[in-house]
Amino acid sequence: MKTKKLREYVIIVLVATVCLLLMDLYTSINAKTRKVVTVVIDAGHGGKDGGAKGIDGTLEKDINLKIALKVQQVLQNEGIQVVMTRTADIQLCQGSYSKAEDMRIRQTIIDNGDASLAISIHQNSYSTERTRGAQVFCYRGSVEGKKAGVIFTEELEKIIGTENVRNVKEDGTLFMLKRIKCTGILIETGFITNWGEAALLNTDDYQNKLAEAIKNGVVRYLEIED
Ligand SMILES: [Zn+2]
Repeated sequence: MKTKKLREYVIIVLVATVCLLLMDLYTSINAKTRKVVTVVIDAGHGGKDGGAKGIDGTLEKDINLKIALKVQQVLQNEGIQVVMTRTADIQLCQGSYSKAEDMRIRQTIIDNGDASLAISIHQNSYSTERTRGAQVFCYRGSVEGKKAGVIFTEELEKIIGTENVRNVKEDGTLFMLKRIKCTGILIETGFITNWGEAALLNTDDYQNKLAEAIKNGVVRYLEIED
């Protein structure tokens, strides 16, 4: 009788151990598929700093913010945590405008966000009207920046077409991308000095496409599984 009880006890302990191991395995698999990540979305310029002025009077700061807010939404829909440097038409420095101070505050927000990736959104401008196309910039010499730059360029090409995307560019003057603790890229989503692209950039449809491509870039670069 005693032996039977002992056997039952051993079986119960074994079953409980197996259950606990399976639960642990399930939790770790789940943790992999639902990796919690934070991304900083930085809408360039704002407030007194309008950024580039478009051929149709569009101000860069306004397009940057519209796209940034759409990116925030689609990333949050994927369960990704988003830190925004601004969500309204404001400059980040108090009092009189100082570019250096504005950049310093952006850098602080990015670093305090404990993020895996920071994406600055800007619009490009050029002296010739025909120049157009979205372009991703990374800091020259940053291996991770280049890797992200290539991925985001490809994801943009998939959604807005290769004819609307320029090659990824390594730039040695984008010091904020170098100074921040996490990997950073800057996306110029188009030229507001080109009539056709300025018109596109002002539409919800094109802004949504850009946001979707940027979200896909985040998911791919950070290897977030669905
Ligand atoms: Zn800009």
